[in-house]
Amino acid sequence: MILEGKTALVTGASRGIGREITFFLAKQGASVAVNYVSNQDAAEEVANEVRNRGRDAITCQADVRDPDQVKAMVKAVADRFERLDILVNNASILRDNFVSFMKESEWDDVIDVGLKGAFNCIKQVTRIMMRQKTGRIINISSDAGRMGDIRRANYSAAKAGLIGMTKSVARELAASGVTVNAVCPGVVETDMIAHMDATYRQTMTGMIPMGRFGRPKDVAPLVAFLASDEAAYITGQVISVDGGLCM
Ligand code: NAP
Repeated sequence: MILEGKTALVTGASRGIGREITFFLAKQGASVAVNYVSNQDAAEEVANEVRNRGRDAITCQADVRDPDQVKAMVKAVADRFERLDILVNNASILRDNFVSFMKESEWDDVIDVGLKGAFNCIKQVTRIMMRQKTGRIINISSDAGRMGDIRRANYSAAKAGLIGMTKSVARELAASGVTVNAVCPGVVETDMIAHMDATYRQTMTGMIPMGRFGRPKDVAPLVAFLASDEAAYITGQVISVDGGLCM
């Protein structure tokens, strides 16, 4: 129980990797706030499951693109739990297209959720964490931000931007006891990749030295470790969880 007494806000926690991170943080003792944008039933299910396992959980609807909604969410979470120890910036979307066909809206949507959304959340939690003199910010980036990915100029830019932001904010907050790190999943079985066609799936699997896609359960333990007191001397780092895809 490395997170006993801690409180965590996980964005995009209704499904996929965020859902599993939420379960794992709770399993390690944290109280959790389950953010979602539209899927209320799924978010309630995650919170109920956490409560059934004996931990405190709330749901919080907010579109991370909207600074006002994020401000209200962070205030509600901090008021409810009386502190905020861990922020996991996990919410993200895909709008894949070849760069020459990519619509401006496809570019903007992906950058707005994945990059600006994380900025909005970080901006709101930093003062709380600095006041507490401790905090953990974990940004879920992607190997796409390190290696690039076909039809994903928007997504790769958002994820690479997140890595740059991780390092800048890590430097800013290092003296305040707040660490900031990025986790880069490779290819993980969630709704996000459900529409990947069979040929591309085979190609991608062939690129992974371990010969399989990841599962949300492969990612969550690293996030919990980075969120713990034991990881106090780790900041500004970018760590892949990808079966060796990016090395
Ligand atoms: P997912 O299954 O598609 O789930 C996306 C989550 O983000 C949902 O909870 C969704 O909420 C939420 N969300 C979307 N737009 C939002 C917004 N504007 N405001 C707040 N929440 C929003 O995604 P995933 O595969 O678990 O991915 C999780 C993270 O891992 C992402 O950052 C992704 O880029 C990264 N990643 C994934 C893979 C992969 O292969 N799956 C690989 C590398 C990195 P609703 O349910 O309400 O829609």
